[in-house]
Amino acid sequence: MAIDTKKCVGCSDCVVACQTENNIPIGYSRDWITETVEGTYPGLHLEIRSERCNHCEDTPCVRTCPTGASHVIEGGIVKVTHEECIGCGACIQSCPYDARYSHPEGYVDKCTFCDHRINNGQDPACVSVCPTYCMYFGDMDDPNSEISKIVSARKVKVLAPEAGTKPQIFYLV
Ligand code: SF4
Ligand code: SF4
Ligand code: SF4
Repeated sequence: MAIDTKKCVGCSDCVVACQTENNIPIGYSRDWITETVEGTYPGLHLEIRSERCNHCEDTPCVRTCPTGASHVIEGGIVKVTHEECIGCGACIQSCPYDARYSHPEGYVDKCTFCDHRINNGQDPACVSVCPTYCMYFGDMDDPNSEISKIVSARKVKVLAPEAGTKPQIFYLV
């Protein structure tokens, strides 16, 4: 996924779409909006980001899971099998991005990249509702995909690269 910080207006449509699409209980969320201000007055810069699990290539959440509930599927999406999760929270502790939450039904939940939608040829729910079209989703291994082209053409960053997890959400800055 790539997200254009120059176009995100922080409207939270992505958050509401995710909650609706994925039946997230009230008070919980798989994605959220972060605003950071950098610089010194009057040269201040506001960056607004839609954030969620980074579907990291190096996954401490998977390594620390004692049951195998946390796992990576073909294509690189990091998932949790709810039926195998004992709710111990080891994955929550090991995620540098605070991307997981304890579901009231006793398992841990997080962004799935809406794999149920992408398997049907649809974009993830958050991507599909964004009114400024600031999110891109696709195959980073295909150099001709829209996301590969935009990530190559623009200046990009990942969040907390020092954590060493090789996050797979690229912020266009
Ligand atoms: Fe795991 Fe956190 Fe990376 Fe998502 S962001 S893959 S939960 S370490
Ligand atoms: Fe694995 Fe569930 Fe424990 Fe997380 S809470 S480490 S997914 S068993
Ligand atoms: Fe939610 Fe799907 Fe977007 Fe992940 S990809 S934040 S599960 S809507």
